[in-house]
Parts: sequence; structure tokens; C-alpha cells
Amino acid sequence: MPTSVAGPEIERLIQLLARLPGLGPRSARRAALHLIKKREQLMAPLSAALQRVFETIQVCRVCGNIDSQNPCTVCTDGRRDPSIIVAVADVADLWALERAHAINSRYHVLGGTLSPLEGVGPDDLTIDALVSRAHDSVVKEVILALNATVDGQTTAHYITDLLHNAEVKVTRLAHGVPVGGELDYLDEGTLAAAIRQRTLI
Ligand SMILES: [Zn+2]
Repeated sequence: MPTSVAGPEIERLIQLLARLPGLGPRSARRAALHLIKKREQLMAPLSAALQRVFETIQVCRVCGNIDSQNPCTVCTDGRRDPSIIVAVADVADLWALERAHAINSRYHVLGGTLSPLEGVGPDDLTIDALVSRAHDSVVKEVILALNATVDGQTTAHYITDLLHNAEVKVTRLAHGVPVGGELDYLDEGTLAAAIRQRTLI
């Protein structure tokens, strides 16, 4: 039975931090200790920021992005080209494309990819909402910016079939995306190039 070096409050903090992606128990301990040492400069503002985001976070009713305003910052930005919708599986992919300054468009967050093995079907994703947005006359192109995995490509084919009757060009990312590659892990140059050299499906 491992012994605790700290009281239950601190142990609880460590356990919660250890659930964060990229942090194991060891890094969680280091992070907790760092926060404790910097409790005025870091822990207090972090705690306030977490609370504030927790209270204000919403899923955008237009695109499915996560933001503190609804519709989200991207949907309400008048400088973006409304004729292009980039469909992504996850908010992380939207953030990755934005980080790469890949395109100045609107987005649609599907909420995942179709995965028969994991029991994810079309009704679990926001595919219907995307198809309905694609029928808006202002929309001229839908870019399927999905992972180069089997599930990502299955989803792309499924959506392409559904968009058959919409007056839009359907494109996908160029092959700069390695097979099996996840967008969030690509370097920004590759991601920006993949958007620029997108191909018609
Ligand atoms: Zn939005």
C-alpha cells in the first residue's frame, strides 16, 4: 500500500491533474507542487480562470465549436469567408488549423468520426447540421479536414454522398497529411499546405 506524502486535499489535486492529457502521476505531482509554491502568482489566477471558463463555456449552436459566447467567436467574425465551411472531427482540429493560419473560413465540428467498432453512428455526430448548412446558398465549398485514418476517410465518404444534392464543391486535404495522421499533431506548415492543395472529391 503506497503511503501518502500529503493531506487529502493535495492528494485530490494530484489525482485530478493526473487525469489531464500528457500528465502522468509523476508530472501531476510536480505540477501540483509548482502550483502550491506559486499559489499567489499562478494557483489563484488559474483557479479563477477555470471557474470562469466552467461558468461560461458553451457549444456553438451554429458550428459546434466550444467557446464562451454563442454563436462562437469564429461564427460571428465578419472578416471570415462564409462561402467555405471546413468540417473537422474535433475542436482540437479547428484550433490546429487556426494555429496554422491555414484558412480564413467558417468551420463545422462534427464531434468525432464514424466508427462502427466503437459504436459511433451518423446520429452521434452533427452531420445533419452540416448538410443543412451546406444547402445555404452562400456556401460554395465544404472542405472535409478529417484525419487520414480509416474512420476519418469513412466519414468523409459518407458526408460526400450526403452532399451530392447540395450546390457545393466538396474537397479534402491534400496528401501532405500522412496516412494514419491526426491533424492536431501535424506541424503548422504541413497543415497549411494540406489546406491550400486540397483536392476535389
Ligand atoms: Zn460557431
